[in-house]
Amino acid sequence: MIEKELIVVGAGPAGMTAGMYAVRSGLDSLVIEKGICGGLSNEAPEIENYPGLDRVNGMELASKIKEHVTKYVEIRELERVDRIEAKAEGFEVTTDKESYHTKAIVMCTGTRHRRLGIKGELEFLGKGVSYCATCDGFFFRNRNVAVVGGGDSAVRTALYLRSLGCQVTLIHRRDALRAERYLHKKLDEAGVNIRWNSVVKELKGDKVLKSVVIDTRGIEDELPVNGLFVAIGEDPNSELAAGIGVNLDEKKYIITDKSQRTNIKRVYAAGDVTGGVRQVVVACAEGAVAALSAYDDLI
Ligand code: NAP
Repeated sequence: MIEKELIVVGAGPAGMTAGMYAVRSGLDSLVIEKGICGGLSNEAPEIENYPGLDRVNGMELASKIKEHVTKYVEIRELERVDRIEAKAEGFEVTTDKESYHTKAIVMCTGTRHRRLGIKGELEFLGKGVSYCATCDGFFFRNRNVAVVGGGDSAVRTALYLRSLGCQVTLIHRRDALRAERYLHKKLDEAGVNIRWNSVVKELKGDKVLKSVVIDTRGIEDELPVNGLFVAIGEDPNSELAAGIGVNLDEKKYIITDKSQRTNIKRVYAAGDVTGGVRQVVVACAEGAVAALSAYDDLI
């Protein structure tokens, strides 16, 4: 059993920052990540509002943060936390590779893409259906694609696909976008076609996706597409935290106070898994606060 003072679960911007602040405070800390550093921020085609960096690709920002924080903290990538149990004087963290004992935990487990839950969605996953334009967009360049959603992610996805030469239709269930105003103008200028008040009901094809069935206020039609990018928001990865009794809100986001403390002693949470404003700059700030709160509680 490896002994640590603090374990951070998840190495998105929040987790990486928490790890750096914890080690610099003097806590013997480790960050564990089931995939690669960066979390969903890796998928952002362009980040234009991280102060000090005019425009940066999400993966580039994540790799800059990783390069910086690993001067201080060890990050174990491709190691999945399977279980956390409360024990005397702390917690036992079991991964697919190791067992750890730690005095404190910061949960930075982020969110996962929400699915439409319609016929054909899983069948055509990787065969036309995608949740990540920066990962898969290249395969659809100059082709016909649709994007579902009306938030920042959907609009940014539509713009990115347009920049790859795609014919893009944005399908949104209401008559107004949720995305930043700044992006509305860009969408118009880029020539993205918008289907308002429309819901995707079914995906059709044979070996690959060929079309989507759209319901616009009760009238159905079929739009031929090569790809469908789903960007309808995210759900929190809060199951591990719930397993040790951490309180969640009605949408299953972890509830914290301003110091990023949860209701369980020496368990903190930061970043997207806590809901609220989901921006890289906020995740980093919350990670820093969580680590410093842990330090205050442990010394
Ligand atoms: P979001 O803001 O929650 O928007 C989700 C969109 O999908 C909404 O327009 C919603 O419609 C729609 N939607 C939800 N469920 C749906 C369903 N079942 N069927 C069809 N449409 C559905 O999510 P997001 O765009 O992923 O953004 C998440 C957070 O990250 C936000 O806080 C956002 O500001 C942030 N973000 C920021 C940037 C940036 O560049 N600053 C980029 C990406 C994300 P309604 O509008 O009708 O609810």
